[in-house]
Amino acid sequence: MTAVRCSNCAADLSGRELDDGWCNACGKSIPSFVYREAGLKGRKEKAIPQATRTPMTTSATSMDPEDRPAGWQLALIGLAMIGLATVIVLAFV
Ligand SMILES: [Zn+2]
Repeated sequence: MTAVRCSNCAADLSGRELDDGWCNACGKSIPSFVYREAGLKGRKEKAIPQATRTPMTTSATSMDPEDRPAGWQLALIGLAMIGLATVIVLAFV
């Protein structure tokens, strides 16, 4: 095993310390470039599972609940405009 030295205190780092990512001699974290220079993959970090959200593009787009009220209101406004226009036209005829 290649000797990896701590970048903070130049102490030889054991495999355990490299696994933990902490230097026991100085109590500081081992920076990632130390691993890189040593040709190691790096500290075993918890693989953050990328939340693979499957976007529901099939039917969710047309049924978007946030779109429905707006369209509904637009339709109402349109109806109101038509109603107003009729009233105005009828009033002047
Ligand atoms: Zn150290």
